[in-house]
Amino acid sequence: SGRLLEVEDLHVEFRTREGIAKAINGVSFHVDAGETLAVLGESGSGKSVTAQTIMGILDQPPGFVSGGEIRFHGKDMLKMSEEGRRKIRGHGIAMVFQDALSALNPVFTVGFQIGEQFRIRKGLSRGDAKKRAIELLDQVKIPNAKQRVTEFPHQFSGGMRQRVMIAMSLALDPEVLIADEPTTALDVTVQAQIMDLLADLQRERQMGLILITHDLGVVADVADRIAVMYAGRIVEEANVHDLYARPAHPYTVGLLNSIPRIDEKGQELRTIKGLPPNLMRIPPGCPFHPRCPKAQPVCVEKVPPLRVVAPARGSACHFAEEVLRGE
Ligand code: SF4
Ligand code: MG
Repeated sequence: SGRLLEVEDLHVEFRTREGIAKAINGVSFHVDAGETLAVLGESGSGKSVTAQTIMGILDQPPGFVSGGEIRFHGKDMLKMSEEGRRKIRGHGIAMVFQDALSALNPVFTVGFQIGEQFRIRKGLSRGDAKKRAIELLDQVKIPNAKQRVTEFPHQFSGGMRQRVMIAMSLALDPEVLIADEPTTALDVTVQAQIMDLLADLQRERQMGLILITHDLGVVADVADRIAVMYAGRIVEEANVHDLYARPAHPYTVGLLNSIPRIDEKGQELRTIKGLPPNLMRIPPGCPFHPRCPKAQPVCVEKVPPLRVVAPARGSACHFAEEVLRGE
């Protein structure tokens, strides 16, 4: 197939002392060149685990893939040699992590850390690597890149540090960039700037971009499609405008209602009652049923599969058509 990155029926489990936690339960999605997919969910929904599985850094606590495929240009990465996978990571697929401060080494300059990839993986000299680091700092719009390249991570503001992380992830010209909560630690204005930067870079480089977030408001302007995750499953998938206009799953309805809106100042925020399930004891039937205002007896008995409910729209709710109609 011509797809850039495809995840198909992925299952991931964690062995813990208390039992097996089912973190990912049959997740499928794809991202193509020049396209932005947002993966949305609360913490524990499996969105970060999905990213970590793609990047092969699923190791704490010991997680393992119990089924499915992750195809890059049609080839299943899970069946490749470690060497084959290493080639894809960085060049093919790169990741921006949520916590720039702990991902950067405090004792090296940012220029050294960005340049390291050029030295190690492309064999550039120190001088050339530094030049490339300056170019990248320019591309992520850090002012005075020539001077700042010799500074240490703590000398950068939170937003500028996240730009450094993005520069680092771009060093090997990845075709797919995965950004896991890239703006969580930042204030709202800086969040918007970083999202704009990611959107610009995605367009300029025609990358496939996967934005992982718990905040629908943050990704609304930059995503093409959204996959909503709950209890390790995708419960709704749609293009961003359709999803906003007419959600097709009660969980998405709840998420939309919990976004603060400027036009509704002073109005109380409606949050979703209850908590996401313990992944060692996922409720039977629809995993959302204990929190769902629309739940019926069938929801406790039958798992609703993700199915097409309207053109280019998927929902894993027995009553998706009613939800779509706003009932
Ligand atoms: Fe709610 Fe039932 Fe739909 Fe699950 S299947 S989201 S419990 S109405
Ligand atoms: Mg996370």
